[in-house]
Amino acid sequence: MTRSRDDGAGTQDFADDIAVLCPRCGALAHVLARTRLTCPACSLHQTRPRPRLFAADGASLERTAAPDWHGPFVQIAAGPARCSRCGNGLSPPRRVIAAGKRPDNMTDAGEGRCAGCGEDSPVETLWTPLLAAAQGREPYFGTRLYLLEETGRGVVWAYNRRHAQALLDWIAADLRERGPSTGARTMAAMLPGWMKAARNRDAVAKSLNRLIDQSV
Ligand SMILES: [Zn+2]
Ligand SMILES: [Zn+2]
Repeated sequence: MTRSRDDGAGTQDFADDIAVLCPRCGALAHVLARTRLTCPACSLHQTRPRPRLFAADGASLERTAAPDWHGPFVQIAAGPARCSRCGNGLSPPRRVIAAGKRPDNMTDAGEGRCAGCGEDSPVETLWTPLLAAAQGREPYFGTRLYLLEETGRGVVWAYNRRHAQALLDWIAADLRERGPSTGARTMAAMLPGWMKAARNRDAVAKSLNRLIDQSV
């Protein structure tokens, strides 16, 4: 019987070299050290001083124009906004721009509806990078992952060959044993339930094997 241990390796442990599709030419490109996007085919090269961070709702914590973000954008309040009638906190409606497009202006004036009294009040808004779950993109430049397979149940993806192999080892194991240092963010804990379900295990393992074959 194969045994697998959730050893606390999180997705971030595989993020040193992420295989992605170049947002400019579509060739295989790389996100290195979570701060550099580089494409050997078209010489696209973008660098960031530090990895991008996101709030729990998926909005970037950076308040900049984000020329190095290639994923979707979400509209948020530019600062604290309050209802003009009752003083309740106010948010603009959650609007999203799909990946591949950019907002015309990063800042905008919008209207927010107060959840307390229903009054509409003006809100200064800005567009910021959005990290959406299960969208098949990496969280540093928002580029599309190279190792990705759409299945009937969801998207199977990996950052690189080593990551795909680690996922396969874990999925393929007959017995899953949790290690002593596991936390909520470990790789196994972060896998969606459908990938861990016994009935999907063979299909997911086949997808991961194809990703491993595809990786260079
Ligand atoms: Zn390119
Ligand atoms: Zn109000």
